[in-house]
Amino acid sequence: MRLVVFCVWLILIGQPIALAHQSSATYVANEAVLITNGDKKVLFDPFFHQVFGTYQLVPEQTKQAIFSAAPPFDNLTAIVISHAHGDHFAADEVLKYMLKYPMTQLIAPEQAVTELMLLSGAKQILPQVTSVKLAFDQHPKAFEVAGLEIDAVRIPHAGWPSRAEIENLVFRVTLNSQNTSVTVMHLGDADPEDKHFLPYKSHWKERVSDTALPPYWFYFSAEGNDILNEIINAKQSIGIHVPVVIPNQLKSGTVDYFSAPGETRNIGESHKH
Ligand SMILES: [Zn+2]
Ligand SMILES: [Zn+2]
Repeated sequence: MRLVVFCVWLILIGQPIALAHQSSATYVANEAVLITNGDKKVLFDPFFHQVFGTYQLVPEQTKQAIFSAAPPFDNLTAIVISHAHGDHFAADEVLKYMLKYPMTQLIAPEQAVTELMLLSGAKQILPQVTSVKLAFDQHPKAFEVAGLEIDAVRIPHAGWPSRAEIENLVFRVTLNSQNTSVTVMHLGDADPEDKHFLPYKSHWKERVSDTALPPYWFYFSAEGNDILNEIINAKQSIGIHVPVVIPNQLKSGTVDYFSAPGETRNIGESHKH
């Protein structure tokens, strides 16, 4: 009897049965990850052409699914770009997507937006674009886009002090839906040294991240692990940017990471108060 009532209730309010895990992370490729929480969906670093013979390209079928807005890639709230490197960002495809889906927002470092705006027809997407201008050592920025709470810090690119000119942004995004709130942090290609992160202690404290998405090299050094476990205020992490040939150190270790396109994880739900 109770089951019947439950079924009727489900039918009446038309909610999917997967209520308990409405928040998830879906791996696309390299550092491209889809985060969903109810009606909010954020897709990080989805379009790129380069993999340097090492990293995972977005499978053609997945790319088609994104461009045709097939679930789970339907109704994207925003696309977020970590930095303007060829294995994270392809201006032509970002433009093509934004033109096709005028309801989707783009949040990207100024460097990427500048590149995008050189393309013909790009002016048309300006109302959808939030360009984040952050200098090295500048105070983090916080803003809201389409109901998403977003903040960004400029953390140097891996290999520091080389590639210092690249505007690599660490984004923390909170996806609020009806009953739940989920926060994720995408680290782009951040350099895993304490000294880049320690100056922003109060920033990390401001909000807990349910899941951090660091490039896998964070797991390979004491400082990288310290940043993940002690500094950035994240409950857990899933490594990304994992080479197609998975390093043995990852395979034999205990940390979580994404390596096969299409993999998913349920991510923590901190219920709203
Ligand atoms: Zn990079
Ligand atoms: Zn990269």
